[in-house]
Amino acid sequence: MTEQRKPRVVADTPLADSVLELMNDRVELLPWDVALEGCDEPVDGLYTYGHLEVDGAVMDRLPGLKVISNFGVGVDHINVQDARDRNIPVGNTPNVLNGATADMALTLMLASGRRLVEGDVFARSDEFTHYDPGYMLGREIHSETVGIVGMGRIGLEVAKRCLGFNMRILYYNRRERTDLPPELNATYTSFDDLLTQSDYVVLVCPLTDETRGLIGAEQFSRMKSTAILINIARGGVVDTDALTSALKNNEIYHAGLDVTEPEPLPRGHELLGLPNVTIAPHLGSATEQTRFKMAELSVENLMLGLAGEPLKTTV
Ligand code: NAP
Repeated sequence: MTEQRKPRVVADTPLADSVLELMNDRVELLPWDVALEGCDEPVDGLYTYGHLEVDGAVMDRLPGLKVISNFGVGVDHINVQDARDRNIPVGNTPNVLNGATADMALTLMLASGRRLVEGDVFARSDEFTHYDPGYMLGREIHSETVGIVGMGRIGLEVAKRCLGFNMRILYYNRRERTDLPPELNATYTSFDDLLTQSDYVVLVCPLTDETRGLIGAEQFSRMKSTAILINIARGGVVDTDALTSALKNNEIYHAGLDVTEPEPLPRGHELLGLPNVTIAPHLGSATEQTRFKMAELSVENLMLGLAGEPLKTTV
């Protein structure tokens, strides 16, 4: 009897320890170079987490590819239509990261409104000699208006947290939602109304052809000069040049960014030198608990796809 070979999987690296442990020698891991250079041997799976592009050309270089499993919910780096055309299921990790990512939105709202990072630097410096009732005044969060662009799974968790801050909630999607908890009192608005009325504009929609550059110079000109922009979606949803110029000219008050375009920004980029922006290095789902759940779900999807079974969560 011939011994069955292990499924061969090309993976984006470095893989998290939790992912490696869950794969637990059940697969033969191949380096990403195989996806770029191609391979004569069969390749059964592709495991990704977002920083390398996967299009039809990559898929065609991997003979017999059965599944693409992504560690993360956003799949803007994968050409999903190319995968559909080839009958290759694409797994992702929705829901398990909703809470952590929404927490990050609130973290950025609070840090941006209350100038926390600037304050931390000041508190550690020799310049902090006494309490001054006039310094570092920020913007309130409680009872202000939040406008959520992308009231989906994560957007809803953001809204629930904003309710705790007694905020007025506006949202914009392509379609109005009829299943929102009534206690949110969330108002579906046009994109324009959301921009002009919100004190906090929170971006949490996917990056698609439609949403690329959704926030540009024209949109900044409609926002309040006291508004705070929060981006926990993808960097490409915001035009980086327009954002830099809006912050430099104080067209808006502050930006809190979990994601940027490009990511990371080149060292020396003008945005990195501005005081009215708070930047996190793509930490939306980065908690020990959530990352473990993402590892579990993405490896489960991978193994199901390798076995030719339906994935637990697909795009
Ligand atoms: P989701 O449940 O699919 O929600 C996305 C929402 O965006 C939907 O309500 C959708 O409503 C709306 N939307 C889609 N296209 C739109 C458009 N052109 N204009 C306006 N609204 C639009 O997705 P999710 O799980 O909440 O995740 C959302 C995104 O967050 C992901 O795609 C990912 O890129 C990002 N994310 C980032 C992090 C991070 O670490 N920073 C972590 C997790 C997720 P309609 O279909 O009605 O338009």
